[in-house]
Amino acid sequence: MNYNVNEKGYYGEFGGAFIPEMLYPNVEELRQNYLKVMAEPEFQKEFNQLLKDYVGRPSPLYFAKRLSEKYNTKIYLKREDLNHTGAHKINNTIGQILMAKRLGKTRIIAETGAGQHGVATATVCALMGLECIVYMGEIDIARQAPNVARMKMLGAKVVPARSGSRTLKDATNEAIRDWINNPVNTHYIIGSAIGPHPYPDMVTRFQAVISEEIKWQLKAHEGRENPDYVVACIGGGSNAAGTYYHYLHEKDVKIIAVEAAGLGVDSGESAATSVLGKEGIIHGCKTLLMQTSDGQITEPYSISAGLDYPGVGPMHAHLCKTGRAEFMAITDDDAMKAGLELCKLEGIIPAIESSHALAIFEQKTFKPNDVVVVSLSGRGDKDLENYIDYFKI
Ligand SMILES: *Cc1c(COP(=O)(O)O)cnc(C)c1O
Repeated sequence: MNYNVNEKGYYGEFGGAFIPEMLYPNVEELRQNYLKVMAEPEFQKEFNQLLKDYVGRPSPLYFAKRLSEKYNTKIYLKREDLNHTGAHKINNTIGQILMAKRLGKTRIIAETGAGQHGVATATVCALMGLECIVYMGEIDIARQAPNVARMKMLGAKVVPARSGSRTLKDATNEAIRDWINNPVNTHYIIGSAIGPHPYPDMVTRFQAVISEEIKWQLKAHEGRENPDYVVACIGGGSNAAGTYYHYLHEKDVKIIAVEAAGLGVDSGESAATSVLGKEGIIHGCKTLLMQTSDGQITEPYSISAGLDYPGVGPMHAHLCKTGRAEFMAITDDDAMKAGLELCKLEGIIPAIESSHALAIFEQKTFKPNDVVVVSLSGRGDKDLENYIDYFKI
């Protein structure tokens, strides 16, 4: 079984490029060039240098002693929360801004929901001195004021999407419209392992630095490169794809994918795509998607903005369908509890997205000698308001 993308852009039956005709030249230019560019020694050198000096990589692989004692197993946290801008998203935006430059692009567009990807994009545009336009739903602009301020401070123009539900999918439509109108000088930075081929593969390869580091770091800790389990939360699936990448074909490494159950899988307020989703097309690729019987995308729900997405990337749809990954759904309540537990046991305030991955230890028993590596995708600073409201702190 192959878990990587094939030459046609598919993971099993999922993936591909389902795009308007007018977008074809843009996507095709990227498809023809991305692997070539990424293989250039100069590109590799610049990417790795920036990951080191600007992002602060390698991120530590931390043995969480007190958490491990509590659950009677060996838990390691991959500290993406310590990256510049506070999460894994910067790995991808650094890669894509370098790609854009190599392709001669001078203008960057992106869409953002909660604003995390918008901030990561605005950051690398400032770093490279490129024009940056971020589309964001009008409602999201109102509820994510600090991130809007960050983007503006970093020099980006934040454009409100005023149509439809005035949230992420409307911002996506605006970004696509912009790209159609500006095919020559503009690169569209997608923020997760989704979108038309080659985006899911390109984003995965940029995030694969996570599992590349885990291999040598775990070797130093445990004398072996392979853990028994790798665990990550899944919104679109980029931190997960990076955490799994170098283990996809290692049969002794089990993969756990953690989705947001919201108020409960059967509550109507959920984002557990692997349970609730059916095959459909979103964001230019065929994947698992939450939709009504007549194919309308269902509004997802999760307390965590980063997991509040109605689909999963095509790689994860394939991992789910083939059974290569075990999917678990974690409710808001269980995630919040696990987040606070990490604060108390390890002195680390995690992003609520990452707290979902931590919550599996209450639901699943591991053996004392199992080595479980969890992607701590981001830090909790951005979620302070949420934690305060929830726990009445
Ligand atoms: C955006 C985000 C996620 C979800 O995105 P993926 O592409 O699924 O990784 C998870 N954790 C944090 C901290 C995020 O900011």
